[in-house]
Amino acid sequence: MDDAGNVGGAAPFRGTLAGVTAQVLVVGSANADLVVAADRRPAGGETVLGGDTEILPGGKGANTAVAAARLGADVALLGAVGDDAHGSLLLDSLRKSGVRTDLVRVVPRPTGLAFITVTPDGENSILVSPGANRALRPEDVTSALPGAEVMVVSMEIPLATVEHAVNTAAAAGTRTILNLSPVASVPEPTLAVVDLLLVNQHEAAWLLGGSEDTAVRTSELPGLLDLGPRGAVVTSGARGAVVVEADGLTEVPSPSVDVVDTTGAGDAFAGALATALSGGAALTDAVEQAVRVAAFSVTRRGAQPSYPTVAELR
Ligand code: ATP
Repeated sequence: MDDAGNVGGAAPFRGTLAGVTAQVLVVGSANADLVVAADRRPAGGETVLGGDTEILPGGKGANTAVAAARLGADVALLGAVGDDAHGSLLLDSLRKSGVRTDLVRVVPRPTGLAFITVTPDGENSILVSPGANRALRPEDVTSALPGAEVMVVSMEIPLATVEHAVNTAAAAGTRTILNLSPVASVPEPTLAVVDLLLVNQHEAAWLLGGSEDTAVRTSELPGLLDLGPRGAVVTSGARGAVVVEADGLTEVPSPSVDVVDTTGAGDAFAGALATALSGGAALTDAVEQAVRVAAFSVTRRGAQPSYPTVAELR
């Protein structure tokens, strides 16, 4: 971060919503998170009483866009919500954070929902009902791209839309970050035009041929480039992240912090990375910034509410 508080280094962020095009375009999901604490999660056929339900704005795309906006990026979300109370909650939250919502379609399906059960051991189990996110079509992407410097695409939306977004961005000269989370098989021609693949260590293990529980060694990570992307960034929780480029690996350690809640840390990372890159930062510098932002986010509760502004990072 420079003296003016710019996370991206070289070029200052515009930090306004006045432009016709956005610096950062996020293509991804928006969900309402219905969070309930319970002593234990119900087994099949069982009913368990839990606490009061909290309804929080979430979804990987919306979280990423909010993280970027908090850091001053001019950011638009391309997504879909339903014409219902949850959709209004999500649109309000995006707007309050400074995310442009003119590319969020309101469709005649229920807003995406994530049913999250939290048990006293801190473990979450999550059932996602994608709802309106399934209505995000490939053709929704085309008109949105010209002018975006960096596009982040995450999963939880139709694979055809992910593929179209990546391919259209590549053709338009927009730098593409594919946050392949939740991890899924993406056709090789699409991966081949991705600038930066962003995954956590479990997703990396799966992509390298193991299961998500396989421990992946740092020395194996260059194998991700064999799948096609120009570069990759692998996040690894409290350890920070690893940058994988054709000429080698760079490990970026995380500052040590008091962890309160890691929900949405990966999305904070994605938003910060896109913001820093769109501001002109070199990849390793951008990852250093993203690690700091994500570490900050785990010191506060929730996903979007935990994301820092530039002033807070100072
Ligand atoms: P999540 O699913 O919780 O959103 P993720 O599994 O996608 O996260 P992680 O690798 O766990 O991704 O975390 C992303 C980034 O968040 C890490 O690279 C790191 O910068 C930061 N982070 C996560 N956990 C911690 C922690 N315990 N201490 C410091 N930083 C953390």
